[in-house]
Amino acid sequence: MPTWPFDNSYAALPDTFYARLSPTPVAAPGPIRVNRALAAQLGLDADWLASPEGTQVLAGNALPEGAEPLAAAYAGHQFGGFNPQLGDGRAVLLGELLDTRGERYDIQLKGAGRTPWSRGGDGRAPLGPVLREYLVSEAMHILGVPTSRALAAVTTGETVYRDRALPGAVLTRVARSHIRIGTFEYFAARKDTSALRQLADHVIARHYPEAAHSDNPALALLQGAIARQAQLVSQWQLLGFIHGVMNTDNMLLSGETIDYGPCAFMDDFHPEAVFSSIDHNGRYAWCNQPSIAHWNLSVLAQCLVPLLHDNQAQAVALAQAAVDAFPERFLAAHQQGIARKLGWQGSAEGDRELVEELFDLMAAERVDFTLCFRSLADFADPGSPAPKVDGLFSPPASLLPWIQRWQGRCEQDGRSAAERQGAMYRANPVFIPRNHLVEDAIAAAVDRADFGPFEALLARLSEPFDYDPQARRYALPPQSGEVVHQTFCGT
Ligand code: AMP
Ligand code: MG
Repeated sequence: MPTWPFDNSYAALPDTFYARLSPTPVAAPGPIRVNRALAAQLGLDADWLASPEGTQVLAGNALPEGAEPLAAAYAGHQFGGFNPQLGDGRAVLLGELLDTRGERYDIQLKGAGRTPWSRGGDGRAPLGPVLREYLVSEAMHILGVPTSRALAAVTTGETVYRDRALPGAVLTRVARSHIRIGTFEYFAARKDTSALRQLADHVIARHYPEAAHSDNPALALLQGAIARQAQLVSQWQLLGFIHGVMNTDNMLLSGETIDYGPCAFMDDFHPEAVFSSIDHNGRYAWCNQPSIAHWNLSVLAQCLVPLLHDNQAQAVALAQAAVDAFPERFLAAHQQGIARKLGWQGSAEGDRELVEELFDLMAAERVDFTLCFRSLADFADPGSPAPKVDGLFSPPASLLPWIQRWQGRCEQDGRSAAERQGAMYRANPVFIPRNHLVEDAIAAAVDRADFGPFEALLARLSEPFDYDPQARRYALPPQSGEVVHQTFCGT
């Protein structure tokens, strides 16, 4: 077995942070897919990973040399209610690798069996959610959104029981770390300030090294986390992405997206859109995501209070001021992102109103979120050949006066129409992991052991900005019979 270049820092933290344990072996591992580009980045041999021996490792039946497997402890607010004891109930961290650029990544097997945090669960993952996470997380990465990634997926040869019997699978998840707001909550709830300090130092070293040189490193950490979360959620908003389960245990300190359970990209724009079958009150609707991120960050700030200042009142004031900066941060990131989508290099007076009007019109007409933006790119250069998404989408009449005003605004922006159009084509994807396509790919794999649609969709999603008329069906919104109304947690 080849040696993996492990460099495990989390396993060096005190044993209150985790439980050491190995993945539980499965009956008959089978390969599904290895992410070759990511394997190369991590310095791993993709051919070996895809081999029978590699498949055993990816299924948790064998450990690579140097692995120090563990399940991490964490707590979290789920739908607003605090749970002091969550933890990795079905995921095992094998260790950390330094990639070819020296950057540190966690390698985790998700669906690797029971742990001390499994509660009533079986520790396993059905094939469908594993394929969904693979598709959506890789699509997010290619769209430029910070995210956990998928290194590989394997089948287990075992059945897992949910509402019906399903094939089991294991996902190899890669992230800059798996430290969550809920990890801080775990120690804050136990009033373990020394563990909190160790955790903060660890997170600073891994994710916010510049904070170490600050007068108040814990405050710099909090401010850094707030800035990254603002940036992240603005990217979600501008892609029409709904995370679905923004519990504090699903918010990483690294600023990456994690936990692709009941997530969805919107087709027709509906600000109150919710897909998750367990989100009965619409807490995590698209339009609520920024304020939920804000709320989650206030939870992080509360956890950090003991580290911010010796004087409690002053510590609280620092925490509050940091959290209060979120809305402005979010707005700034959002404005920058929307300017890119609309082809503007700079900002001008009236931009905000123009943008708000666009979203209002889009919502009133329930236009397809992705294709509406993409078609604006077609309108960016009146001299360019026929619009590329022609036939897929045409703006409703109510949008035409807005488009004229937007074109007027564009003319003041300084670059040529052709340049603007090119930039807009690179900012507005035409291929996204639409729910009906993801569901189709999952159904083929689960019902017929046919991974062709999964592979084809993955290939298509790898070039989200290049429209290819041959692949028209991947750009189309669902037909009425194909609309997916609900998505489910991967539990
Ligand atoms: P999630 O909904 O994936 O964020 O998971 C919430 C909590 O439930 C975490 O502590 C998970 O580890 C745990 N969990 C989810 N699914 C399972 C499962 N099949 N077996 C054991 N624990 C699980
Ligand atoms: Mg989770």
